[in-house]
Amino acid sequence: KLVLGIETSCDETGAAVVSVDGRILGEALASQAELHAQWGGVVPKLAQGAHEDAIDSVVQCALTTEGGGRIDPSDLAAIAVTIGPGLSLCLKVGIRKARALAREHNLPVIPIHHMEAHGLVARLCEWELHFPFLTLLISGGHNLLLLAHGVGHYTQLGTSLDDAVGEAYDKTARLLGLELGRGGGPALEEVAREGDPYSFNFSVPMRKFKNCNFSYAGLKTAVRLAIDAACPGAETRPISAATSAERKIRADIAASFQRIAVLHLEERTRRAIEWARNIDPAVDCLVVAGGVAANQVVRHRLEGVVREGSPNREAADGGVMRIAFPSPRLCTDNGVMVAWAGVERYRLGLMDPPPPPVTSTVEDEHLDIRPRWPLGEGPNNYLGNKL
Ligand code: ATP
Ligand code: MG
Ligand code: FE
Repeated sequence: KLVLGIETSCDETGAAVVSVDGRILGEALASQAELHAQWGGVVPKLAQGAHEDAIDSVVQCALTTEGGGRIDPSDLAAIAVTIGPGLSLCLKVGIRKARALAREHNLPVIPIHHMEAHGLVARLCEWELHFPFLTLLISGGHNLLLLAHGVGHYTQLGTSLDDAVGEAYDKTARLLGLELGRGGGPALEEVAREGDPYSFNFSVPMRKFKNCNFSYAGLKTAVRLAIDAACPGAETRPISAATSAERKIRADIAASFQRIAVLHLEERTRRAIEWARNIDPAVDCLVVAGGVAANQVVRHRLEGVVREGSPNREAADGGVMRIAFPSPRLCTDNGVMVAWAGVERYRLGLMDPPPPPVTSTVEDEHLDIRPRWPLGEGPNNYLGNKL
C-alpha cells in the first residue's frame, strides 16, 4: 500500500511516495529559495507561479523509483496533500494537482496539516516512537510546543506571541549580509561557527513569564541595533566582500544571536517537559521538528535539556526522557513528511472519498483551503484545567 504526498504550502514544491510500512519509494523537491532571496521574503504571486511550473515534474519524479521504475498512480492507496497552514495561492496549486490525480484514478484524498506533518515524520525516522510525546515544532512560521496524544489530537502548551525562530534566523542572516541561496538559517549556522557566542550580550526573551510561550521580536530588534552600531550597512555589503575584521564581527553577532535564540528554546522546552508530564506521566519522548531542527547547535543543546532530565519528576515516575529528530533533510519542507502524515491517517481511515467529477461550477469555490489553521487546544484551556 502506497501513499503519494504533495506539499506546496510555502516555497518548496515537494512530492513523495511512501509505503504504509515506511519505505520511501520516490521523492522530489523543487526549492524556490534562490528566487525569493532576491526579494527579502516569499512573494506569494511568484511562489504560486514557481509551484505551477514545478508541480507536474515534481510529482512525475516522485512517481519514479530510484532504479528508474514507474509507480502507476492506480497502484496508490490514497493521495495526501497539505491544505494549510500556508499561503492560499500556493496551497491551491498542490490541492488542485492532488484532486485531479485522485479524480482520474478514483483515489481517496487525505487533507494534511503542514505542522502536524513536520512532527509526525519523526515516527517515520524513529520506528519506536509512540504516543504520547512532547513536540517542539520550530520553523519559518511557527514556534509550537505540543503534547501529542495521537494523530490529530494535540494539547498546545506554547506558541510564539510574535515571530518564529526560523524567521528570526532568516532576518538576522539578511541583516548580516550572508549568502541566502540555501536559506538564511543554514547560512547563519555556518558563519556562527567562526564567532564567539559570548561576545554580544542579548537578553533571553520572556524570562519573567513562567509559561511555555515564545517571543523573537525583541531579539530581532536587539540584533538589528547591534549591527547598526558594530557594522552599519552590513546588509548591503555581502560578507564575502567584508574585511577579515568585519567578518569576525558579523560572525560574533551571528553566534551571539544563535546562543540566545537557542537558549530561549531550551528554557521553554524544559518547562514544557514538566507540564507535559503533569498532564500525562506516560510522556517519555521529546520530538524536535521543523526547519530549524536541522540546526546542529539546536539539536545538541536540546539533547542537553533532555539528558539533564528533571530530577523531581524522575523520582516520581521513573521515566527518563528520550529525544527524537527527523533526519535533517526531512526537517525542512518536503513531500515525504506529507506522504507519511497521509500514511498515519490512512491507517486510521481518516480520508475523504475520491473527488466527484468536475461540474460546470468552478472547483475553486469548493476547495477546502486553510491558510490559518491552529493545531491543538490553546494553552489557556490547559492552564485553566490543570494548573
Ligand atoms: P512553516 O513550517 O512554519 O509553515 P516553513 O515551511 O517556511 O514555515 P520550514 O521549511 O519548516 O518553514 O523551515 C524553514 C525555516 O527553517 C527557515 O526559517 C530557515 O531559515 C530555517 N532553517 C533551516 N535550516 C536551518 C538551520 N540549519 N539553522 C537554523 N534555521 C534553519
Ligand atoms: Mg520553506
Ligand atoms: Fe514548514
